[in-house]
Amino acid sequence: MSDEALEMVTNYGCRVFDGEHFVYKSGMHGPAYINVDPVLYQPWALYSIGRKLAEPYIPAGLRSSGVVPDVVADPAVGGISFGLMTALAINERIDAFATNPTMREQYPEQVMHVFAEKQKTNNGQEIFVISRTGFAPQCKGKKVLVVEDILNSGVSTAGVIECVRAAGGEVIGVACLVSRGGATAELLGVPRFDALIDINMLQYDAATCPLCAERRPMVVDDSLGKGKGWAEKHSDYPTKFLLN
Ligand SMILES: [Zn+2]
Repeated sequence: MSDEALEMVTNYGCRVFDGEHFVYKSGMHGPAYINVDPVLYQPWALYSIGRKLAEPYIPAGLRSSGVVPDVVADPAVGGISFGLMTALAINERIDAFATNPTMREQYPEQVMHVFAEKQKTNNGQEIFVISRTGFAPQCKGKKVLVVEDILNSGVSTAGVIECVRAAGGEVIGVACLVSRGGATAELLGVPRFDALIDINMLQYDAATCPLCAERRPMVVDDSLGKGKGWAEKHSDYPTKFLLN
């Protein structure tokens, strides 16, 4: 986990914990908890995160690889704010770097931003599609960076990657604010994967939870999962508060 990114999101009011003991909405137990909703209503927070997500994809003179995407694509709804800010940040860095016409020609006139939306198929399955007018043609023959907010199992990311490829785009990488499912570039089948925050979100059945077995105190803050209700039914189990 990147301490810098973690400090940044907690300064914006996000809550990120690891090495504790939580009950999730699903009833499963686990050591980590994260909620990044507060950045979504703070444009400057989103802007800072977009700049960080853009970092590996800006012109080489400003940093390392210099592989600049033509398009940023993300899954609606959660990914849109982050993807848009990332595209904006790359555009800003191109403009700052390529200050003469010859240099400017090497970069996209404007890094575009598209999003994919969930759609139900006839058999009730949910898939991602890039369906808005003019979106899919933006990807054709272009280098595309896929951006996510929180990457769990990678299902929505895989869905966006598939859409981009179906539209004729080349996925050059995936960038997300939080990875909590152990994703890697290899697992995602892309050349590059970056997570600003990488947090291990192991989940256990309540009945066989190893954290319960070691009697790790249950977090019972109201805003951090369902530990309070669980603790009420397990009155001899140790509890703790993290926020007050
Ligand atoms: Zn437990």
